[in-house]
Amino acid sequence: MRSISSGRHHATFEFGDLRVISLRDGYIDMPPTRLRTEDGCVLGELPPSVPLVGDNLRLSVNAFFVTDGTRSVLIDTGASDNWHDPTMGLIYDALDEAGIDRARITDVAITHNHEDHVSGLIAPGGSQAFPGLERVWIGAGDTSVFTGRLAPILDRVVPVSELVSINEWATAIPTPGHTPGHTVYEIRSGAGHLIVWGDTVHVPTLQFERPGVSWEFDGDQSQARTARAALLERLTRPHHFVAGAHLDSPGIARVSASGAGYALEYLAPPIG
Ligand SMILES: [Zn+2]
Repeated sequence: MRSISSGRHHATFEFGDLRVISLRDGYIDMPPTRLRTEDGCVLGELPPSVPLVGDNLRLSVNAFFVTDGTRSVLIDTGASDNWHDPTMGLIYDALDEAGIDRARITDVAITHNHEDHVSGLIAPGGSQAFPGLERVWIGAGDTSVFTGRLAPILDRVVPVSELVSINEWATAIPTPGHTPGHTVYEIRSGAGHLIVWGDTVHVPTLQFERPGVSWEFDGDQSQARTARAALLERLTRPHHFVAGAHLDSPGIARVSASGAGYALEYLAPPIG
């Protein structure tokens, strides 16, 4: 897998016969007190290697578009204008910049029902962001989000409760923990396996080295920790890559074992 081009809000990767395009929706600033130790306590002192912006951690917010030229899937959709601070909602600019016609997107796969992942199905102003949408794959435990603002999408929801193929090269894998319906998507090509893992890690400068550290919004911290451990171990296999919603944009990396934890190596320089 290799980076072949990038812009302000997107980066394109060649992945065998597939193209993977990382789309930057923006960022979220959150206080480090959201980090939790293995005992569920607020993490004490942060290592100096974890950067802060003011007093906050800055989390990138990414979505990913994968295509073989005929079939495509958009994984996550950003926050649109549905967040208290206007730091997100760039996905539509990112799609334009990458030359992706929103009207031709038929399949969206959602990692979980939090606003920075699902809200972009509705564009600012209230119209449907993807007018040709046919299917929205999402974990069965997370489908209750399709009310109110998202109610117009409900008729296209495909609940995922077990391993299921979206197409010849994309598989939905339930990984409950962060939310009951949290789902990762495995993309396979001749170049290997890409795991698009949603909110498995929120703070990459800390949680690879210390994968036992959790996030306040991991609904079931112990289950989220178990899911994270299994995915990280799997990603150390040859020809495996990760795409993370909150890894530093563009958010695609290789993972290796390192000491008691893991190390990540980004495949492209930062954007945004
Ligand atoms: Zn998130």
